[in-house]
Amino acid sequence: MLNNKNCPIILLGDSGVGKSSITLKFIRDTFEDVYNPTFENSYIAELDINYGEKIRLEILDTAGQEDFINLRDHYARIGEAFILVYSITCRGSFNEMKHIKENITNIKQCTDVPMILVGNKVDLSNTERKVSIEEGKSLARSFGCAFIETSAKENINIEETFKTLVNDWKKSKERKVN
Ligand code: GDP
Ligand code: MG
Repeated sequence: MLNNKNCPIILLGDSGVGKSSITLKFIRDTFEDVYNPTFENSYIAELDINYGEKIRLEILDTAGQEDFINLRDHYARIGEAFILVYSITCRGSFNEMKHIKENITNIKQCTDVPMILVGNKVDLSNTERKVSIEEGKSLARSFGCAFIETSAKENINIEETFKTLVNDWKKSKERKVN
């Protein structure tokens, strides 16, 4: 029964952190150095998780400039699994994570919401890192969710991010059924 259900995934985080790049790397295996700010794009994809089981994903890549509080609330409402993205080169984008997480928890009225905390641009780790791995891990622990550092540019942990999240989403569904 669960296999017929789509997994609605939403990417949230400040603009410029790499939400679109992560999405496009995952969907099309492409990467652009040129910044192309987008409003909102949605994609359908199929992901193989354990033992050849396929899950259909509905991925919503958001703009990161949700001027209207309503839009944020709307995303929190329609998503079932969330990718919270910051850039390891931008402290401000990391600080934003707790606000986004609180908003989701408030809207859902539930703390068991599948999400993963992602520190992107790990390829710039040697020269431009502003947020340590430990800080990322510790924040994810406080959220009760998984943590991963990625690079859309060098294709590090991109598929892993989606697989981890979808597995958590599946487990959460099963908990709610039982
Ligand atoms: P969004 O606003 O969150 O969707 O961010 P984008 O995906 O548009 O990326 C913003 C900028 O960061 C673009 O210039 C990308 O090329 C760059 N970028 C995204 N991901 C990475 C990454 O993993 N490493 C590096 N070095 N640059 C990245
Ligand atoms: Mg974008």
